[in-house]
Amino acid sequence: MILTYEISHGRDFSNELRKAKQVANFALKTRTQSSRDVKHIGLKSMISNQILRKYSRNRVLKKIRSVKLTVPSQGVKVDQHTHTIYIPCLKLTLNYGFPRHFEKVNQVEVGKEYAYVSVTVVEEPQYDPKGWIGVDRNTTGHILVAADPETGKVLKLGKQAKHIHDKYMNIRRRLQRREKYRKVKEIKNRERRIVRDVNHKASRKLVDTAKEVGKGIRLENLKGIRETTRTAYSFRYALHSWSFYQLGKMIEYKAKLLGVPVSYVDPAYTSKACSKCGTLGNRNGKQFKCPSCGHVDHADVNAAFNIANPSTGLGRLQAERDACKGSTDTPRDEMVTECHQR
Ligand SMILES: [Zn+2]
Repeated sequence: MILTYEISHGRDFSNELRKAKQVANFALKTRTQSSRDVKHIGLKSMISNQILRKYSRNRVLKKIRSVKLTVPSQGVKVDQHTHTIYIPCLKLTLNYGFPRHFEKVNQVEVGKEYAYVSVTVVEEPQYDPKGWIGVDRNTTGHILVAADPETGKVLKLGKQAKHIHDKYMNIRRRLQRREKYRKVKEIKNRERRIVRDVNHKASRKLVDTAKEVGKGIRLENLKGIRETTRTAYSFRYALHSWSFYQLGKMIEYKAKLLGVPVSYVDPAYTSKACSKCGTLGNRNGKQFKCPSCGHVDHADVNAAFNIANPSTGLGRLQAERDACKGSTDTPRDEMVTECHQR
């Protein structure tokens, strides 16, 4: 699997970045692939070559905004003992703290603030799960609630998500009223970084827990999510669908790296059925109450149990068993930004 890590480089490359943009514009205009043609711009030919290759073939792009300095693997020296990456043509040393061993660096893209290091990492073989941990991401307050029906254990992660969201929404509203739109964007980015961090931590904890007990992770099918009727109670839409989607992607690739199986269930009844007997019950804010067996539970926990055990309750909830295998396979060269280092 290919992962992309972000490392703050602390250098000023504005000169080189400006030249890179010039090279890209030249490539777009002339379609040249030869770095000799752009020698006059004065960018290192190794980097020019990458930019030319990328932009001379691009028939769609009309206007170039920003161009990163792309360094191919042969222009990168890696020392996995000292955790450093050295790029001779930019005289740039990057210290990395990637949590995993990687096979090789494929390329490094250097932008204004960050270097994006793309590495190939080895995945562990997938094991046969001893059971499933159900994960509810549409919760009333947490970023995820996980439940293991066999042990009864419940894991609630990312409690601060709602607080973060409320806080930043208020700030944004205030700024919008005062028409400070640039500041609004800044605040949005800051929130994005914070939420991403929460998602990283929650997915990490979930996947590690599943691995520890040899179980698989069961999620609600992303595609069906819009049709569920839970919007009214949950803050999931408020908390941005990108965050929800991002969390799913993080769980998927972290699980894949550790060989943890992931499967999906139809979300249709997960929040409405009783996890004990399957009868459709009443969800009242944070509480679920079953009219048939009297089972009372936290609504999110009840949902997580249903997700883990989709066959509970008269077969109402249908697991997409075929999704068990294949569907977690993300494309081989899909890029995932794993961690954010400063
Ligand atoms: Zn019941």
